[in-house]
Amino acid sequence: MENLKDFGEPSEFWEFFYEITKIPRCSTHEDKIREYIKREAEKLGYQTEIDAIKNLVVRIPSNRDSGSNKIGVVLQSHMDMVCEKNENIHHDFSKDPLKLKTIEIDGEEWLTAKGTTLGADNGVGIAYQLAIMKKIHDRSLNFDTPDLDLLFTVDEERGLSGASQMDKNLISGKYLLNLDSEEDDRITIGCAGGRVFKAEVNYEKELINTPNLKAIKISISGLLGGHSGTDINKKRGNALKILTEIIWKLNSNFNILVNSLEGGNLTNAIPREAHAIFFIEQSQKNEVEAFLKEIIANIKNLYEGTDSNLVISIELLKNFNDKTIFSKDFQNKLVDLFYLIPNGPISLHPTSEGLVHTSLNFAVVHTKENIIEFKVSTRSLEKYDKDTLFERLKTLLRMSGFDINTEIITIYPSWPPDFDSKLVEISKHVYKNIFGKEVIIQAIHAGLECAFFSNYYPDMEMISLGPDVLGGHSPDERLNIRSVSKIWKFLLALLKNLA
Ligand SMILES: [Zn+2]
Repeated sequence: MENLKDFGEPSEFWEFFYEITKIPRCSTHEDKIREYIKREAEKLGYQTEIDAIKNLVVRIPSNRDSGSNKIGVVLQSHMDMVCEKNENIHHDFSKDPLKLKTIEIDGEEWLTAKGTTLGADNGVGIAYQLAIMKKIHDRSLNFDTPDLDLLFTVDEERGLSGASQMDKNLISGKYLLNLDSEEDDRITIGCAGGRVFKAEVNYEKELINTPNLKAIKISISGLLGGHSGTDINKKRGNALKILTEIIWKLNSNFNILVNSLEGGNLTNAIPREAHAIFFIEQSQKNEVEAFLKEIIANIKNLYEGTDSNLVISIELLKNFNDKTIFSKDFQNKLVDLFYLIPNGPISLHPTSEGLVHTSLNFAVVHTKENIIEFKVSTRSLEKYDKDTLFERLKTLLRMSGFDINTEIITIYPSWPPDFDSKLVEISKHVYKNIFGKEVIIQAIHAGLECAFFSNYYPDMEMISLGPDVLGGHSPDERLNIRSVSKIWKFLLALLKNLA
């Protein structure tokens, strides 16, 4: 595609968006995009500043003549993008421009990239900011704009480090508009905070001393998995919870000798696969199989409709040479502990229907040489609740009787929703005025950069908004073209009303 000029108003947005798709900007490689934005701003005579972690701010003074009672507004996006491509595509994210194309789905026009992510997350935010800068400079906005700080953060996608390590003097203002949301009929006003911890339990391996035992492997697969925050209330199966449920029942009814437990991969994903290997006596084989058959039918029944492709397979391992097992005492305690670790939504928000308040994801288990390692991720809209949940987990670990080392590997704050803030009030009003409909007000059960900003600037009111983007973080990522001008109108009306 040569350019995107025919995509409607504002043409400045599409000019900048097109330029941005030519600039490599995977997370932690934001140098080129930062240079580009800085150059564009300085070309128009605006001041810029960069902090130690390399976030960039462009300062645009109010176009109002008198200096009295000026309100500061921060417009914010992140500079990095998720770099994902289809396997059969040749694309070097460190230098190649994205190859754009439009597609039509159900009569709607979408912009996408051939075989790669599009970087609409968060290129749309950057393009809106630059388009506003250009319009203010050209004096083509017919209203008084507030004092604007255009904030561009680094490294959002990999772990929010740009926002978490930002210099607190970099921005100031009464309101902040984050441009990193992906649905044009709503604004986001809060998000959960989280804590991920890793635990290690030491144990001594024992060798089997009974001859002719049979090794059996139980595997869980076919689950949907998904995001450990936003998908946690969808009643999807957690492979580790299903596995440990089966092992607990076996352990209570038969003399099984467990060799290993394995499952999960990322702490921010619901585990889709897990397996266990254990030994039984030949004479028990038929009875165990019949027992498992019944349990498996019951479990599959629980997930009918939400995770219908769940597969629980049982396999006799013919040539399994690892003859090590847990001691019986260790096995009993471990299986009890894993069976009792809570999982899924713990509580719901008291007034916002369907919003998860506090949740937990039993994410990863590895059997290593003399160590069982497991990871649990917790989320909550309120710090108090997150702390309480963590205390309950620590109590459970203590009651297990194990000597467990725990280490917090990730921690980030929540952005507690304020449904009555002035900014929310103004946004509702403005949206209704332009589009004749109520805007949806939501909080989400996942991390956003606003969580850090709301912690640094407790008096700053903030919302997050953006045009329709689907398939984020995958080569299917696509931007709804019509939606861009809808959010543009909304954004300008917000600025006008805030000033
Ligand atoms: Zn984003």
